[in-house]
Amino acid sequence: CFSEWHRPVWAEIDLDHVAHNIREFQRITPPHTQLMAIVKADGYGHGAVEVAKAALEAGASRLAIAFLEEGIVLRRKELSAPILILGVSAPDTEKAALEHDLTPTICTVDSAQRFSQAAATLGKTIRFHLKLDTGMGRIGVRPEQLKELLEALQHLPNLEMEGVFSHFSKADEKEKTYTQMQLHRYHECLNMIHAAGFRPTIRHLANSAGTMETSEAHFDLVRIGISLYGFYPSDEVDKTTVDLRPVMRWKTRIAHLKMLPTGERVSYGGMFTTRRPTMVATLPLGYADGFRRRLWTKNWHVLVRGQRAPILGKICMDMFMVDVTDIAGTSIGDEVVLIGSQGENTISADDMANALETINYEITCLVGKRVPRIYV
Ligand code: PLP
Repeated sequence: CFSEWHRPVWAEIDLDHVAHNIREFQRITPPHTQLMAIVKADGYGHGAVEVAKAALEAGASRLAIAFLEEGIVLRRKELSAPILILGVSAPDTEKAALEHDLTPTICTVDSAQRFSQAAATLGKTIRFHLKLDTGMGRIGVRPEQLKELLEALQHLPNLEMEGVFSHFSKADEKEKTYTQMQLHRYHECLNMIHAAGFRPTIRHLANSAGTMETSEAHFDLVRIGISLYGFYPSDEVDKTTVDLRPVMRWKTRIAHLKMLPTGERVSYGGMFTTRRPTMVATLPLGYADGFRRRLWTKNWHVLVRGQRAPILGKICMDMFMVDVTDIAGTSIGDEVVLIGSQGENTISADDMANALETINYEITCLVGKRVPRIYV
């Protein structure tokens, strides 16, 4: 984003925790099951390149991203592991995918034809993964349309079905009937694929939740996204299965301090009025950095000197204010924790997600590009 960073706002990315989280998934999966590190959306906001390297070093063997451009970023940084494009490839992007040795997902006759043609033009055989829709209703071929697609694939040159995958939609819920139904459909589709003469060697179905909760879905590979970054996919999963360590800590420093007398207003709209002489600390980040504006309505706080400092008034684009009246010794330049631990207190991305009625995935993805990631 910028070539130099001076503003004291940063996200620490703990790559040892990435390695630890990978090892936890190795522990609960069979030795022959590969781990795919999902690093789409710039590694769920943590930095795809560095997380990918750490995950591969720790034992992951493959990577996945959402679309072509994200794969090209990794290739340009000399990551040579197999990379699966999880989304559908837009027409006319086939050649670029092949040139960067990215593995496409195919789920329609039309895209199979386009990839076959592009591969023939380049004189290559392209390995692809076939995507099945077993109940997510997103991308993927429906079981009732699979026969037609397989027949087309039997006649298309320069294509090799390396993998077959599908995606769970409710694996993070306690009730597993739907997940079992998806697993059943997946097996039925695999039978059809084998009957049509294909021998894909990489069968995969489980995301983080599926890997933790449904061992019958491990197959040849599991796709670990959110838990790579140290989060449980939901509160309904059994959190004792794997010990996860959060990878991101989000921090800043106090930029400005002032005492306001009783009855003074703070921030846009004057929505907060001091009820006592109040020591106000201004922090140099705001909603343009992904610190969500709605938090001001949620009695939210940050950590200063290990104590909770409540937000005062509305969060601005590049600043917000907190009350440090009761935190003795607070000074300009003090480190402030937005996500992470300080002293005895912790603010987790899960806490923030709960307050905002969203999921931990969204919290880290939305930490803005103006926030440098510092790898520790
Ligand atoms: N597989 C696919 C196809 C996905 O879209 C995702 C993420 O959305 C994942 C795996 C990883 O899921 P999770 O982050 O829940 O582990």
